[in-house]
Amino acid sequence: MQRNAYGAVFAGTNSMATKAASLPAASSKPMAPPNVPLGPRILVEGWQYRLVGSAVIGRAHVGCPLEDCRKKGFWGAPEIPIVDSYRYIGKHHARLLLDSKGTCWIEDLNSLNGTAILRASRGRRTHSFYFQRLSPGVGYMLVNGDLVALASSSNRGPYLTISYHT
Ligand SMILES: [Zn+2]
Repeated sequence: MQRNAYGAVFAGTNSMATKAASLPAASSKPMAPPNVPLGPRILVEGWQYRLVGSAVIGRAHVGCPLEDCRKKGFWGAPEIPIVDSYRYIGKHHARLLLDSKGTCWIEDLNSLNGTAILRASRGRRTHSFYFQRLSPGVGYMLVNGDLVALASSSNRGPYLTISYHT
């Protein structure tokens, strides 16, 4: 099966649709505050995942490890699965690692559409922001508040963003 390339057909609607589907039903009563986990965590579409050791983030898929997953060295489903019917996000897209000093690292796992971190470049009067595409297989340090794009294209921008919090 041919996989979609992010830049070719992305219409910009999928992440919103996925997010809307995960929102709780409207209620007239105020909602209780969410049970926010303490410590390093990843925020994905309103869900918080506490980081312990390493975790792979990727497109939710059944039957893992399939033969093609095993060929690429993946023997279990991603710990942080994302429903992505457009298939821009790889089955095993990126790895997060919390090292023994409590520093968080992210590594793109050779994904088709890439992983990128939001960076600021400071001008004399204004700041501009851009997504820095990560070299596959290289660890990049994350700091509190970093925004990461799963699939990113230079002309269409980020596809789905996640954030890191300590
Ligand atoms: Zn898999």
